[in-house]
Amino acid sequence: MKNARNAYLCHMIRSNDIESFKEKLRKHGLKATAQRIAVHESMMRLGHASADRIAEDIAAEGQAKISAASVYNVLSDLSEIGIYQKRMSRTNKMFFDVNTLPHCHVYDCENDSYRDLVDEDLEMMVQNYLGSRKFRGYKVDGIDIQILVRPSSRKKRG
Ligand SMILES: [Zn+2]
Repeated sequence: MKNARNAYLCHMIRSNDIESFKEKLRKHGLKATAQRIAVHESMMRLGHASADRIAEDIAAEGQAKISAASVYNVLSDLSEIGIYQKRMSRTNKMFFDVNTLPHCHVYDCENDSYRDLVDEDLEMMVQNYLGSRKFRGYKVDGIDIQILVRPSSRKKRG
C-alpha cells in the first residue's frame, strides 16, 4: 500500500518537471514553444484549471500575454498527447488536470474548483465491490470518483 503511494508520488514529480515535459513534446514532434512552457508551468502551479484561469495566472505572473482561446488550444493539444486529463465541471467548463493517473477528486460546487483526493481505502473498496459486479453488455473501463462539496462556513451578511 505504502509502495503504491510512493510510486504515485514519484510519478507525479517525474512527469511534472519541465525537462520531462519537453521530452514528451519532442517525442510527439511538438516544439517547446514559450507559450506551451508558460501554460505547463501554470498548470503545475494550479494542478487543475480551465483555460480562463490559466490565462489569468500567466498574466499575473507577468509573462507574455496569451489569450484564453490560445491557452485552450495549447491545453487541448497537450491533452491529446496524454500530458493532461480533461474533466467537464458542473458549470460546463472544461478543466485540465496535470495528474494523468486514475485518482479521486473533491469538487467544490460553489467555487468550481477541484482538489485531488488520495484515499486508497476508498479506491480499494469501490474496486473490490465493482470487481464482482457485471454490467450486461459492457466491461468496466474505469472508475471516476468525485465527492461534491461546498464550503461549510457561511459568510456573514451585511
Ligand atoms: Zn486531479
